[in-house]
Amino acid sequence: MAKQKKYIFVTGGVLSSIGKGITAASLGMLLEQRGIKVTMVKMDPYLNVDPGTMSPFQHGEVFVLDDGTETDLDLGHYQRFVQSAKFTRKNSFTAGRVYESVIKKERAGGYLGKTVQVIPHVTDQIKENIKAAVEDADLGIIEVGGTVGDIEGLPFLEAIRQIKNEEGAGNVIFAHLTLVPYIATAGELKTKPTQHSVKELREIGIQPDLLICRTDRALDKEIKDKIGLFCNVPGDCVFSARDADSIYDVPLLLSDEGLDDKVVEKLGIWTGRPDLSQWKAMVETIHKPKSEIRIGIVGKYTDWRDTYKSISESLVHGGVANQARVIPVYIDSEEIEKGNLAALSEVNGILVPGGFGERGIEGKILAIEHARKENIPFFGICLGMQLAVIEYARHVCGLKNANSAEFKPENDQNVIDLMDSQKEVKDLGGTMRLGAYPCTVLHKHNGKNTHAYGAYQKDKISERHRHRYEVSNHFRARLEENGLLVSGRYIDPKQGELVEMVELPNHPWFLGCQFHPELLSRPLDPHPLFVQFIKASLAASKATKQPGLKGIK
Ligand code: GLN
Repeated sequence: MAKQKKYIFVTGGVLSSIGKGITAASLGMLLEQRGIKVTMVKMDPYLNVDPGTMSPFQHGEVFVLDDGTETDLDLGHYQRFVQSAKFTRKNSFTAGRVYESVIKKERAGGYLGKTVQVIPHVTDQIKENIKAAVEDADLGIIEVGGTVGDIEGLPFLEAIRQIKNEEGAGNVIFAHLTLVPYIATAGELKTKPTQHSVKELREIGIQPDLLICRTDRALDKEIKDKIGLFCNVPGDCVFSARDADSIYDVPLLLSDEGLDDKVVEKLGIWTGRPDLSQWKAMVETIHKPKSEIRIGIVGKYTDWRDTYKSISESLVHGGVANQARVIPVYIDSEEIEKGNLAALSEVNGILVPGGFGERGIEGKILAIEHARKENIPFFGICLGMQLAVIEYARHVCGLKNANSAEFKPENDQNVIDLMDSQKEVKDLGGTMRLGAYPCTVLHKHNGKNTHAYGAYQKDKISERHRHRYEVSNHFRARLEENGLLVSGRYIDPKQGELVEMVELPNHPWFLGCQFHPELLSRPLDPHPLFVQFIKASLAASKATKQPGLKGIK
């Protein structure tokens, strides 16, 4: 008989943005470290079929999986916290995708003439998707996006209510994350919002088993008992999720509260204590680094940091590997465009991340020129690499009008262009290079290891992509003759060789990659390009005696 699967459903109440994704991911990490085969699923109640087309302003970054699925940033959290799970299209789905499946089935006559309804047809589809996602694991942690009370969320809550009846109470846990605010004028923690949100859940038939209360201070026994009493939960099933300095503290704080002990007890899983030694060492380095550096991130969406979530986390990971704290300094490329370059001289390294659209690109190109000429370590990711190629073409190769077809479609010096096979395609939907592609790393150039090889220490790698444009092969020879080194390549079946990485051999560290390394970095397994970029930035800060930037926060 197949092993009984266990399910933990995580819902949120009161407010969004109180850390449901991190809490779910933390629980995943704690259970995985107890030796349980865990997977994580995100269900988003909105009607977009996937978040690929949503504005990063509204929704934060788009996180891409190996199989090319465009998901939201919670999958990034899951991947950073849970080491062994392989996430695919199954691990993230929206109401839009559920309805799409139901409607397709209906059109194909799959419902045999029945009236197609939210219950049971939409809820059945949701349950089917959940089960498919948890198929290869022993335990699934399934996060329901949004907050309890959202109209769109109802079919999801109904589906998970049914799963508990079907699978049996001992195999399913409902964990509800709420906010317990401290009201300074009253000098008190307030439990009413939690009571209301649990009331709402209970009205639709879901009795939470565990309450995880986000607070700015630990809850004492008295208040936990009070919350428990009003919410029909034993006091020892109420946990505080205190604000933490680093998201990587969260699993440790929750474990100190006994959350994972309670979960395994309730689900009847026998395990030993989690092995948290490596995680603790990593967190220790985050809190007590040996040095500090400032990395400038030159971008466009500077006022919405979730847009660069994976990049800022990867910088933390790269910092840990170098025993350093990395202070990200968000620099608005439009300010640089106005001639305001001062911010660039206050950082030890410059990173230009990915992006779409023309706004701010000239500022990014100026920042890259500055990094190249001043020997400041530079890391260009996707659009950042494309702009580094444009900068080099304009200022070193004499191609004054060098540009990208994304910004100047009618231009005869587009060093960044669509692949020939895509030029005929008029509809831009579906033309992106998405997901994992192999790349061959150049080992040596003029007898010296390339920056790329110095990082990876191997010549076959796989990295995730999300872009439409490529370095044009028509201009490659000109770029290479003038000293731009192509240190990573991929053979596309239609286009032939594609440039995956470029670098400048005579620069302390100047590297651009067409892919998104930030999508693979984990705190316990930092991405090698970030590790080397931080290492070079630290070395540069020592060499130039740039203020090791002590005390700058
Ligand atoms: N806009 C560029 C392209 O489509 C770069 C995309 C990115 O940085 N993710 O190729």
